[in-house]
Amino acid sequence: MPDNNVATVKSVLEDSGELIVIFDNQNSFIVEDSTGEEISAGDIVRIDEQVQYATDLVREGGYDTGNLVGVVKRQTSERVVVQTENTHIGVPNPEDEDIEEGDTVELNAAAGRILRKVEGVDPPSFEAQEEEFDVDEYKTENPGDSFGDIGGLEDIKERVKEVVELPLSKGDEFEEIGAKAPSGVLFYGPPGTGKTMFARAVANSLEEGTFYNIKGPEILNKWYGESERQLRRIFEDAGDQEGAAIIFIDEIESIASSREGSRDVDRRLVAQLLTLMDGFEDYDNVSVIAATNRPGDIDQALLRPGRFDREVEFPSELPVSDRVDILETVANSEDMNVADSVDFEVYAEKAEKWTGADLKRLLNDAAVNAIRDERTEIRTEDLELAFRRIERSRKKKQEKVQAGEDDG
Ligand code: ADP
Repeated sequence: MPDNNVATVKSVLEDSGELIVIFDNQNSFIVEDSTGEEISAGDIVRIDEQVQYATDLVREGGYDTGNLVGVVKRQTSERVVVQTENTHIGVPNPEDEDIEEGDTVELNAAAGRILRKVEGVDPPSFEAQEEEFDVDEYKTENPGDSFGDIGGLEDIKERVKEVVELPLSKGDEFEEIGAKAPSGVLFYGPPGTGKTMFARAVANSLEEGTFYNIKGPEILNKWYGESERQLRRIFEDAGDQEGAAIIFIDEIESIASSREGSRDVDRRLVAQLLTLMDGFEDYDNVSVIAATNRPGDIDQALLRPGRFDREVEFPSELPVSDRVDILETVANSEDMNVADSVDFEVYAEKAEKWTGADLKRLLNDAAVNAIRDERTEIRTEDLELAFRRIERSRKKKQEKVQAGEDDG
């Protein structure tokens, strides 16, 4: 794999096992940490081609790439937005420096903080550049996942069909009866429980269905200063589709938090999101799904009638029969060559509290083990090895979460 697929870790989201990483071009993404290593901010990691996972730790502590210089464009008591040559970067307002708009500052972009104010130089000027924004980057037509690829979770399948698929496919009938088709649905549950997969499956099941995938933190970071406009462009694009469209906003709590002291930009974005949803009521081909693993943190305004007024819960713990079904379904839909002697029941029993994503990883890791051993068939020993590794990393993650809870 080429080494332009490496990025620096900006922060580690302990409770979701994800990383916020930043590439050299300053684009930042949230990826799932599947390195199996202890990752800290500043480390360099390899990212897979779809920019979904950090696959390896390339270098601890990162490279010394020097610092950036930029001009302070906006600030609140908590945050400062610095314009650099490539982008705008939002960083915490440093306590020990008196920063004003227009100041030149030196910052460490990888660590996401201002190092010092640079005095006595003319501020660098950066040509105003039209922010590059390509709706297609967020859009998939007929996304691959289908309901048949989802193991277990029969109740959720029914519920999702009822609250998302039916209104979209039978918009006309809803209208005839005089009922308003619901436009917003909230999916909540821990990471890896299949929320994204379900949203994709609905889009896939609809005729000419289009799927838009937006991550809350990305709206804030990557589209900084442009967030409302970009959000609007995605909605407009969805409204223009011939077929139905699903707009999936992951980690909605990052922009629509109920917490006190949320930033101005957050409030503006929530307002924009609500305006868009109200305005799009008439587009019965568009459905918005918001996902969160912290439903308690969501701004109540978002949950009012006509907005995200339906909920689907993704449980944190699955019955054994669902876990067996997920293993079988994933092995099937990925065409995995599993030896007849492998007993999925045994692993499903042992995989207490594992999510769908963990179970899928079990099979993928087992497949990697088989390949390493130059076999084309997955055997019990491969699963055993993978199981122990994943269980270890799950324990570590839980201990961290526990330690965090004890501190706070
Ligand atoms: P979430 O959005 O809740 O964080 P995802 O939908 O992204 O979780 O799921 C993560 C991975 O786990 C996906 O690759 C998906 O294929 C797999 N997965 C999760 N639940 C299931 C399931 N019930 N059946 C098959 N695969 C699953």
